[in-house]
Amino acid sequence: MKKISILGSTGSIGTQTLDVIRENPNEFEAVAISANSNVKMILEQIEEFKPKYAVMYEEEKAEELKKLIKKDSKTEILSGMEGLKKIASLDEVDIVLTAVVGMIGLVPTMCAIENKKDIALANKETLVTAGELVMNAAKENKVKILPVDSEHSAVFQSLNGENKRDVEKIILTASGGPFRGKKREDLLNITKNEALKHPNWDMGRKISIDSSTLMNKGLEVIEAKWLFDVKAEDIDVVVHPQSIVHSMVQYRDSSVIAQLGCPDMRLPIQYALTYPDRMETNFERLDFRKASELTFEEPDLETFPCLKLAYECLEKGGTYCTVLNAANEVLVNEFLDDKIGFYDIPKYIKIVLDEHESIENASLEEILKIDLETRENVKKLLSNN
Ligand code: NDP
Ligand code: MG
Repeated sequence: MKKISILGSTGSIGTQTLDVIRENPNEFEAVAISANSNVKMILEQIEEFKPKYAVMYEEEKAEELKKLIKKDSKTEILSGMEGLKKIASLDEVDIVLTAVVGMIGLVPTMCAIENKKDIALANKETLVTAGELVMNAAKENKVKILPVDSEHSAVFQSLNGENKRDVEKIILTASGGPFRGKKREDLLNITKNEALKHPNWDMGRKISIDSSTLMNKGLEVIEAKWLFDVKAEDIDVVVHPQSIVHSMVQYRDSSVIAQLGCPDMRLPIQYALTYPDRMETNFERLDFRKASELTFEEPDLETFPCLKLAYECLEKGGTYCTVLNAANEVLVNEFLDDKIGFYDIPKYIKIVLDEHESIENASLEEILKIDLETRENVKKLLSNN
């Protein structure tokens, strides 16, 4: 029985993780779950899964939950960052699945690693903002970081049994998002509702906007660098609108190994939880007679400058990726609140990156400070315009 703590159980990845647990009650147990503010959903999850702990990040919501929870419930309610850190480090937990959105996941992830918990990582912003720190801590503590992101799970699976020295490059596939094929002039006035309509995946709001700007792929390039220890120039992105080939690895003898499947996040979630084993599922099987067309094209970096910005940050190193991530988190929220336009996202990211004085080998405290300063800088820029 694998005992799991889920950071962000009420989100798109969190609920699909609980689907996997529900289907396999003899294999997995949800020992702890958490949400930011969704009291109604976490209450249902507490009743169904009976975890030992449930964290509501927002204090008032935690109070609300305490009032609503059944009197005989054995679930202990916690709150805030202390609550997340506690459920990330419980003795009885084998693996922490990080499915919160944003770099808020960094501190609990570091805490889990220091307490020698394996990590099933969906929360890519944590690796983008502090990849070196997280991977070094994982190495020191002999902890596995198992990718949940579908592309990285595909790369991870395509690396099985191979020698790292034989890897020539990693090829990440991108669906192209809802605006594939469009040009800058078509996108100047698009709304959040158009941006939220992803063709192949049903995901949380932040990652859906990131997919529409291709920042998601930029974040994934950075994530891949840290997970697989490859150089930025050895990570390629190719647009593959069908989302069947989830990503690939090219080897030095010219062989390419890929992982394919119908788009369903439950598969990479389950693989991260069962690795190195596999477990039977009833997920849809790929029918090659129906999936007759698999196409690939170059990403359009002129129309989608966020991907280019991410590559530039990765090449420059230091704390540029921390700034990229923090600025993007703020700007995506502003876009979701109808306060800025689609191209304001790359515009303001570029401004704060140009102003940034990067440092090498930043500590956790320095990263948290730069993250906070970047958020303030972006807000200042926006209020002056
Ligand atoms: P959602 O927005 O659907 O869910 C986010 C979860 O985090 C919710 O449980 C939410 O709680 C919680 N949360 C949000 N803000 C905070 C906070 N400040 N403190 C504590 N908890 C918080 O996101 P997704 O599930 O789509 O994405 C989660 C992560 O996984 C992201 O990093 C994303 O990039 C990555 N990912 C997602 C994929 C997908 O298919 N969705 C695919 C690959 C990666 P509440 O419900 O109360 O708001
Ligand atoms: Mg992905």
